[in-house]
Amino acid sequence: MAGKGEKILVSVRVRPRNEKEKTRNDICDWECVNNTTIICNNNLPERSLFPFTYTFDKVFGFDSHTKQVYEDGAKEVALCVLDGINSSIFAYGQTSSGKTYTMSGITEFAIDDIFSYIEKHKEREFTLKFSAIEIYNEAVRDLLSEYNNQLRLLDDPERGTVVEKLIEETLRDRSHLEELLSVCETQRKIGETSLNETSSRSHQILRLTIESTGREYSPENSSILAASVCFVDLAGSERASQTLSAGARLKEGCHINRSLLTLGTVIRKLSKGGRNGHIPYRDSKLTRILQNSLGGNARTAIICTMSPARSHVEQSRNTLLFAICAK
Ligand code: ADP
Ligand code: MG
Repeated sequence: MAGKGEKILVSVRVRPRNEKEKTRNDICDWECVNNTTIICNNNLPERSLFPFTYTFDKVFGFDSHTKQVYEDGAKEVALCVLDGINSSIFAYGQTSSGKTYTMSGITEFAIDDIFSYIEKHKEREFTLKFSAIEIYNEAVRDLLSEYNNQLRLLDDPERGTVVEKLIEETLRDRSHLEELLSVCETQRKIGETSLNETSSRSHQILRLTIESTGREYSPENSSILAASVCFVDLAGSERASQTLSAGARLKEGCHINRSLLTLGTVIRKLSKGGRNGHIPYRDSKLTRILQNSLGGNARTAIICTMSPARSHVEQSRNTLLFAICAK
């Protein structure tokens, strides 16, 4: 598994076929042959240019549980925050492939682990802060307030890019965090009814910041540790599709998602070891906001979600091509 400062941890999760796919006898094109390899059984001649076998850090099949996806695909990265290392976990994939299903479970499991760690380490004093935003069409919205729309990004000489006027709640306890998560959920739903399809076109970032210091002075526990972990539920990757025909691309042009495209570029450059070269963080809101959680000393895990159905084979392949580039 990737260690500190090393490559991005990349996993793929295939969801089971849903009722609709089963009813219309939408064939299952994919087979997870072991926990790192997935193969495509769709060998139509015009598709022979594509690889059949794909290997990743982890592959989670139809019958996998989110707990396992968390344990093997996200936990180590998420819990870096307790050692003072910034981290981010992403769910990437087309709409209805299981991003929200997977990411909300991962977030809950990570929160469980973080709170039980704090419970066990009474020798340190922890301060937890929580904030949540949604990025839709490059507009940043606070998910903890119904009034904070169109937030501006500012450059802070010490903290880097900060979201102006963003609410950052200091957590009293675990139940306080649960309350805030349900506020986010409500705010997200309100956005969805006012704008068609918001959830497939917007990015959600939940950020948990943890600071700790030793309660009593000793050489081992006197240091202050501070870092944040971001849980990112991305817009549907069909918004960044690279394989549309020229005509379709023109029509779709206004829907192409700048943040998603820039994230792809940033991740490709980081995975090629370009941590010292130019990384275009500043080209989108998402990558500006996440700059401190991506690259540098930060750790990143990406869970790519996909449908197994034949009708989605092109999108699934695009998702796997993205996953290959991130490795
Ligand atoms: P996305 O966020 O990518 O648009 P969702 O997470 O909303 O997709 O998933 C679409 C539907 O499929 C939801 O009803 C969800 O409960 C279901 N689903 C997704 N992944 C799984 C899975 N691994 N196992 C069972 N049901 C799933
Ligand atoms: Mg979703």
